[in-house]
Amino acid sequence: MYDVIIGLEVHVQLQTRTKIFCGCSTAFNPDQPNVQTCPVCLGLPGALPVMNGEALRLAIKTALALNCQIAPFTKWDRKQYFYPDLPKGYQISQYDLPFSFDGHVELEMPEAEGGTRRIGIIRAHLEEDAGKNLHDESGRGRDSMVDLNRAGTPLVEIVSQPDLRTAAEARTMLQELHSLLTYLEVSDCNMQEGSLRCDANVNLHVHRDDGTKVATPIVEVKNLNSFRFTEQAIEYEVQRQWQEFLQTGKTIKDAPKATRGFDPDRGVTFPMREKEEAADYRYFPDPDLVPVTISAEQLSAIRAGMCETPAALRERFQSEFELSAYDAAVIVDQGRLVADYFLQTASACGDGKQAANWVTQDVLRELKERRQEIGEFRVQPPLLASLIERVVKKQISLKSAREVFLGLLEDGDEQPLPTIATIDELIAAKGLAMVQDDGAIDAAIVAVLEKNPKAVADFQGGKQAAAGALIGQVMKQIKGADAAVVREKIIARLSR
Ligand SMILES: [Zn+2]
Repeated sequence: MYDVIIGLEVHVQLQTRTKIFCGCSTAFNPDQPNVQTCPVCLGLPGALPVMNGEALRLAIKTALALNCQIAPFTKWDRKQYFYPDLPKGYQISQYDLPFSFDGHVELEMPEAEGGTRRIGIIRAHLEEDAGKNLHDESGRGRDSMVDLNRAGTPLVEIVSQPDLRTAAEARTMLQELHSLLTYLEVSDCNMQEGSLRCDANVNLHVHRDDGTKVATPIVEVKNLNSFRFTEQAIEYEVQRQWQEFLQTGKTIKDAPKATRGFDPDRGVTFPMREKEEAADYRYFPDPDLVPVTISAEQLSAIRAGMCETPAALRERFQSEFELSAYDAAVIVDQGRLVADYFLQTASACGDGKQAANWVTQDVLRELKERRQEIGEFRVQPPLLASLIERVVKKQISLKSAREVFLGLLEDGDEQPLPTIATIDELIAAKGLAMVQDDGAIDAAIVAVLEKNPKAVADFQGGKQAAAGALIGQVMKQIKGADAAVVREKIIARLSR
């Protein structure tokens, strides 16, 4: 028996226009290496860094969303190591006084996997990214190159408590951060481009037969850049550590923390260089940068400019609009624009549940089919709300509303956008208006029953299904009749 202990260190690239200590662009530009550089990010002698205020603002926004404390006073430290992609010979980071600490995120896991889980955040600090080493691009087996376009890009490192217990939880944590940070517009979180990546610290607490517990050595799996790889790497590492423990009995006391990489092609982790201890980095305060103080006014201004978090939105969709937890999550997971679309539609038509049905089924399906973003979708919230309202007021049936909805999308994208008048035109042209005239419906029913003595006899003989054919015929005569009303009337008549 063992427990799995997982902590994540997540690196998030902030979406600033320029780098953290110089004016170079942060654009992702792998095709033109070393064009976004200057004496500061090349680490030339005498060049002096100046902090990018926007990076600090975005970092604070992130920390507030993670329920962290914000330090009123914070400073910069040099983390020293030698690597070709780090031209200064040190990275500017934060050591003992990070700008924020002590937060948490809540994960919505399925009930069977523990329900809501609160995962602690130890700290979040700011630092600069390194460049990128490219090995053997020439194919001659000996050349290595360095691209410093990325050197000096602002990063927030988020360090979680070792509160995660399964690979699925770790994946959900990363997904939750992705959703949170894109909602807040602090990062594009593009994982292929490395804007969101994580290191996973994994070990096992093994329960021995005598009731004691021992821990296996901690392994840090570096640079995981997809949700799936993170889950796979942790699953693999758990099995590997368990086998190793069974064979060697090695515990945390016998071995220092080890560093491994993940090979997605083979689905395995492999050993990398040994992890440096903090002392090896010889941290000391950077003399070129002034410490940063964060005032209460600054904090409240940032807080005032923040949108609702995905967790708060899920909660509000359930309490205010009576959505199920599942529907609320589906909408929120689509991102802020779809959540806004839902909010506007639900508020305009006054029926959150109907709005949720339309958004999660019809709208998402059509977006997918048409490969469109919600912003370019031809049926915008006022239109959808008007359609829903007509269904609620029984002016058209749900089936007819779907027909109108597709009709609104039919026109090519070059045509002017449909309006509420277009809805009226479509309803009139297709004869979809709901018929409320009881006299007309009754007359049609009498005629249909007379013409179909066999179906009538079948129904009266106990074959419920026979009613279906009769309802269908009446509906064919009076397009726009409410099928539920027709059904009620036919059954009432035949049951006399
Ligand atoms: Zn620069």
